[in-house]
Amino acid sequence: MSPRTSTAAPTAAAGNAATARAHLFNSRTLDAYRESLAAGVATVAEQVARVDGPFTGVTPQQLAPRVDAVDLDRPLHDPGAALAELEQVYLRDAVYFHHPRYLAHLNCPVVIPALLGEAVLSAVNSSLDTWDQSAGGTLIERRLIDWTAGRIGFGPGADGVFTSGGSQSNLHALLLAREEALHRLGGDRALLPRLRVLASAAGHFSVQKSAKLLGLAPDAVVTVPTDADRRMRPEALAAELERCRREGRPVMAVVATAGTTDFGTIDPLPDLAELCERAGAWLHVDAAYGCGLLVSPTRRHLLAGIERAASVTVDYHKSFFQPVSSSALVVADAAVLRHATYHADYLNPARMVEQRIPNQVDKSLQTTRRFDALKLWLTLRVMGADGVGALFDEVLDRAADAHDLVAADPRFEVVTRSQLSTLVFRYLPAGDGAHPLADGANLHARAALAASGAAVVAGTTVEGRHFLKFTLLNPETTLADIAEVLDLLAGHAEAFLTDTA
Ligand SMILES: *Cc1c(COP(=O)(O)O)cnc(C)c1O
Repeated sequence: MSPRTSTAAPTAAAGNAATARAHLFNSRTLDAYRESLAAGVATVAEQVARVDGPFTGVTPQQLAPRVDAVDLDRPLHDPGAALAELEQVYLRDAVYFHHPRYLAHLNCPVVIPALLGEAVLSAVNSSLDTWDQSAGGTLIERRLIDWTAGRIGFGPGADGVFTSGGSQSNLHALLLAREEALHRLGGDRALLPRLRVLASAAGHFSVQKSAKLLGLAPDAVVTVPTDADRRMRPEALAAELERCRREGRPVMAVVATAGTTDFGTIDPLPDLAELCERAGAWLHVDAAYGCGLLVSPTRRHLLAGIERAASVTVDYHKSFFQPVSSSALVVADAAVLRHATYHADYLNPARMVEQRIPNQVDKSLQTTRRFDALKLWLTLRVMGADGVGALFDEVLDRAADAHDLVAADPRFEVVTRSQLSTLVFRYLPAGDGAHPLADGANLHARAALAASGAAVVAGTTVEGRHFLKFTLLNPETTLADIAEVLDLLAGHAEAFLTDTA
């Protein structure tokens, strides 16, 4: 290395640091902050004004070269230029959940008060692990957990914590359930491979994943049979509980689902709660999807029995119209949260518990954690729980009408009536479910529709056959939108049959 480069380098670095400091958010850069965020909001608004379908149908092969062409080591030094570039690599071809013909997964359109919350929380950047990194943020999160626990019908001993999503909430619940089970069994960890989790086949796959992460046996998750509506059958659960007892397999948790991801059906919570109470089993209710019923003005009764659970998963980012991420695990008995408590001298020493300093990290699996609760707080303060519930109710009404529309259409068959807002159905070639091209026609219809960009729908399998799925979460989706998407799907399926014949 020559002496010249060794002296020149620090000078250039010093120049860079001075330029870079202009990008730090603080009291001297507020003009840049205002301008930059306003430009971002304007860009998104222009894009949303322009969007005429939920998706452009771009393929990974078409998009990847545009993303790859960006030289990450050559900054643009200008937010406007970076936004213009972002339009090309992302915004133009993004998947837009606000569009009324986005009918695929459990992604909701978001409410503006929550977007306001998102902007505030990331600027202040509180971290919810400890009081000394969040102050009021901790108290706001605690109020919202208490509020949710109240809506569930839990008593004053309840508690919980915000998480990144339903999968994380389910994992957390099952960790607590596992520890409680081992505790009840005298703390003998050699029993770990014998523990069982009972869930229905319509439950969420995060239950299986959690069992693996929790070191349970590969066959630890036992599938409890369901009825024709894909609801867990109480007699089948009773039989399974009895079999596990006989075989000396302690049931660490029964996972009921309030809103299955595919069928939108709700397990019979009062019956399941009764059985769990009798067997001394932990009842976890996965209400990631159905939690919106907690604020529904007309359908709260569908969750009757949820108050008898030991733990509940709620995903505000599904049926509370919140941006990703926003979820919580709520438990009936705050004491069980101790199973996730560790004290680090540098962060949350045990003496802080005696000093009654509220450190949420004592209850969380995460350490540094977003103040996602702020989005829900502003949503409740601006539009109120009834407003959120009214939006969800409108979605459920629309889903019921959509069910009737498809059920009456001879081109399609429907699996079951959802209690929430999904619709699993398939196109029947020549009205024949056993037609050899039925699977191919439905797979093709879904892919061709997405490629056209006119609408996005999901798919799933039922008894090994390919079905299509609508997940409605947008009150702006009309019955006319649904009728139009059905016609498009039928058209693609018919084209497939003609081409294959
Ligand atoms: C979506 C969903 C989950 C997972 O939630 P994420 O927020 O996607 O992690 C769990 N359970 C059910 C029933 C769901 O619908």
